[in-house]
Amino acid sequence: MSRDIYVVAEQRDGSIAKVSFELIGEATKLAADLDQKVYAVLMGADIKGQCQPLIEAGADGVVYVEDELLKEYVTEPYAKALTAVIKQCEPEIVLYGATSIGRDLAPRVAARIHTGLTADCTKLDIDPETKLLMMTRPAFGGNIMATIVCREYRPQMATVRPGVMQRIEAVPGKTGEVKELKVAFTDADMNVTIKEVIKQSHKTTDITEAKVLVSGGRGIGSAEYYKTLQELADLLDGDISSSRANVDAGWIAKDRQVGQTGKTVRPNLYLACGISGAIQHIAGMEDAECVISINKNDTAAIFDVSDLGIVGDLKVIVPKLIDALKKY
Ligand code: FAD
Repeated sequence: MSRDIYVVAEQRDGSIAKVSFELIGEATKLAADLDQKVYAVLMGADIKGQCQPLIEAGADGVVYVEDELLKEYVTEPYAKALTAVIKQCEPEIVLYGATSIGRDLAPRVAARIHTGLTADCTKLDIDPETKLLMMTRPAFGGNIMATIVCREYRPQMATVRPGVMQRIEAVPGKTGEVKELKVAFTDADMNVTIKEVIKQSHKTTDITEAKVLVSGGRGIGSAEYYKTLQELADLLDGDISSSRANVDAGWIAKDRQVGQTGKTVRPNLYLACGISGAIQHIAGMEDAECVISINKNDTAAIFDVSDLGIVGDLKVIVPKLIDALKKY
């Protein structure tokens, strides 16, 4: 049995998801502790050309499965392809992004190969004594951090939140092993008919991928005000996100929530508007490169993690920012 680490690389329309590069970065650190290699698993149609960026991002090699049936993500054929890769290559560890695809695929594969799965991890380590993977994730509604170890079953598998791990610097021209694994699909493997793929009109659909986030807290006062924040975000070529208070109030969708029970983001700029800076919120945005906060309370905790704090009414400041950027 190999003791290598496999990262399930997510691709859509020819581009690899950011989380896959983050996981390769993390896997290279874990692999160094185990003295093993890192492989990416790529599945799709006409994807061989996408292997090289994964190697340049740190993978020692890529195992790919190519088939027209894998053109769009569908649970059954993807689960079959990945199960075949795991059965043949026998990795020690398999990592997935905790994305909608990873969350769908990982448990199906875990059931097929009779192993465990720790979902939604925020930290991974190798136990120096046992060499087992220690998978840490929030539990009991985010009130404790639980570290889970899979002692008996193999591979050890985890889904990992996007934005938590860091990619390593790419090495252009790096070489690695690229091997194709043939999987015999039948019509019965495709239990879904895709009639149409409708792309979201949003420029960035995943806040973990946004370079600029304009984030609204309870201080914005209403769901309606997100339109103003969206206008500001558009001018900055960014997207909107939120504190949990506004998600709970039904002002914005859950997939926009930043924080311990939301998403972890690491944009170049995080503009916090009317967010107090609760510890659960800060847990999801403190690694942003630059944080600018607007809050009328000069003692708000968000200022403690801000590079620039603006004390004042956001309803005055945000329109001024929009006007200034329009002139820019
Ligand atoms: P508030 O705390 O109400 O802050 C509103 C801020 O807006 C205040 O600082 C106020 O001064 C300011 N303000 C008001 N009006 C204006 C104005 N006109 N101009 C400028 N400033 C103004 N929260 C998260 O965000 N993400 C999570 O993932 C998360 N997970 C949690 C998990 C658990 C287990 C628990 C217990 C809580 C969690 N929370 C999370 C909730 C968190 O504790 C806070 O309740 C929440 O973050 C508060 O949101 P807020 O900052 O928008 O609202």
